[in-house]
This record gives sequence, C-alpha cells and structure tokens, in this order.
Amino acid sequence: MKKLVVLSVCLLAVSLMFIGCGKEEAKTASKFVTIGTGGITGVYYPTGGAIAKMVNAKRKDYGIRATVESTGGSVFNINAILAGDLEFGVAQSDRQYQAVKGIADWSDKGPQEDLRAVFSIHAETVDLIAAVDAGINSIQDLKGKRINVGNVGSGYRQNAIDALEANGLNFESDFHAESLKAAEAPGLIQDGRIDAAFYTVGHPSGYYKEATAGTRKVKFIPIPNAEALVEKYPYYAAAKTLMSNYPGAENTEEAVETFGVKATFVTSAKVSDEVVYAIVKEVFENFETFKKLHPAYAGLTKESMLAGLSAPIHPGAMKYYKEAGLK
Ligand code: GLU
Repeated sequence: MKKLVVLSVCLLAVSLMFIGCGKEEAKTASKFVTIGTGGITGVYYPTGGAIAKMVNAKRKDYGIRATVESTGGSVFNINAILAGDLEFGVAQSDRQYQAVKGIADWSDKGPQEDLRAVFSIHAETVDLIAAVDAGINSIQDLKGKRINVGNVGSGYRQNAIDALEANGLNFESDFHAESLKAAEAPGLIQDGRIDAAFYTVGHPSGYYKEATAGTRKVKFIPIPNAEALVEKYPYYAAAKTLMSNYPGAENTEEAVETFGVKATFVTSAKVSDEVVYAIVKEVFENFETFKKLHPAYAGLTKESMLAGLSAPIHPGAMKYYKEAGLK
C-alpha cells in the first residue's frame, strides 16, 4: 500500500513536470547554463547571481536558464569549464593568464587552449587579516602561527604563496598552513582555531564583514614588497584596501597596502556563440542596472570590462563588442 502511494505521488509529480514544461518551454527548448563562482561570502557568488539575473530576465527571448553554483574558486572554475562541467565561471585575471600560458597550476597540463574570455569585472585585492590577540602586526609575525592560505582550487592560494615569498617567508616551513575554504575562515578565526587568513576578493565582501564583526578583534595586515611582485609577474598591480568598507576592523589607517588582480568572466570555446552573445548583450545593454547589483561594481565602465583579459575573447562576446563599437 505504502509503495503504491509513493508511486502515485511520483507519477503525479512527473505529470506536473510535463504540464509545466508544455506551457513555458514548448516553443524554445531551454538551454541550461551553470556559472561557477566561489564561497557564498565572497563577491563571485553574488556576481554569478547578477549575471544570471540579467539573462534570465529575457528567458522568453533567448530560452536561456542560468543558474549559479558556489565552488572552490578560480582554479576550480577554469578546470570545470574546460572539462565541460560548467559553461561559465568567474576567475581571477592572474589565473586566466596562467591557464592560457600553461603555468602555475597548469604547468603539468600545458596551455589551456579552449579557455575563452568574456569580460572582466571588479578589482580584487590580496589581503591578510589577523586576530589582534595573536600579536601579528606585520607579515613577518606570521611565523609559528596557524594561518589559512586557502583551499586547492581557489584563486587566492597562489596569491598568498606569492605574498609570502616576496617577504622571504615559506608557508610550508614558517608556520602551520591550513588549506581551508574561504567561507570557513572567519568563523575559525572567531573560534580561535586559526590566527590569520589570506583571501583575494572584491570589496565590500561578506567575508571581511563577518571576520571583523565578532568578539575576537581582527585587523588587516599590510603586504609589503608589492613592487617586487609587480616586476616579476605581469598580472599583479600594486593596490590598497580601503578600511571604510570594514568599520569593524581594528585598523586606524584609511587604507592598507597590498597588491591586486581583477575578477573576470570566462567560458569555453565549446559554448555556443548565441549563448555568450546573449549574456554579454544583456549585461552591457543594461549596464546601469547591472552596476547597481553589487557595490564592488561602483567603478566599472564598459571599457574597463574589456581590459585585463589574456584568453582569446569568445566570438559570441566579440560579436556584441563589434556591434556596440567597443572593439
Ligand atoms: N578570488 C577568489 C578565488 O578565486 C574568490 C573570491 C570571491 O569568491 O569573490 O579564490
């Protein structure tokens, strides 16, 4: 009897699904695309949501249904796109460059020839925060402490390693390095399980709001010697993190020195021109609406969104940029 009830409920659910499909999707079969982002307290996750929102608003015209997935970050997204598991993803500009050249995380696999750039988005800075009671006042004070350098698959892990190296430190020998996902780090600082953490993100982010809102006081630690990194790597630029975004931080200065990259939107050569064109068109034609979807987009211009790309621009995106006179 129980089985019969379960079966009828299932059948009912299946028929309802068909009725649903019949109504909305009979004319154009929906194309489902998934956008890989990052941890939910970062800026990639709301960015994926903002882009999906733009194109989903025109679902009737394009038949595209975009959804967003929280992931481990840039390196994961690039690899999942190339494996055909995701259609789009947000990735740091340095990671895009490395994948195209076949260096860093791609040194074994070689150049990732199918990776395509769509546009770039907000600026991201590489930051280090530390609990005040851990007595960390400079990057040198990390020695012997417990620090999050980031999960494998994140974009920021390599930024942390580079920041340390530029300051004569090694994460394998100088301190206890944790490889945690960004979303976990603020809570672990508050619980006293780690003393400091690196992260590369746009501002303001939920991550730093959470990290600076607890009872354990936290401050941003400057990352010196950015010039050495900028000289060595073409994808880094000197940058400052504005403390006005995080009134809960213990810093008294206006800004903390560091270096940065850009968030970019990437896809694969295998994704159709039509789908990429539709997404780019909706973001660019509704630019002012898009910009309001996150405060990290405040400084964006259409021109700035075409800078900082190393992979070839996807032909579907290029079609729009030519029509709009941007290329
Ligand atoms: N830049 C980070 C990474 O790729 C993610 C930042 C975010 O989710 O906003 O690991």
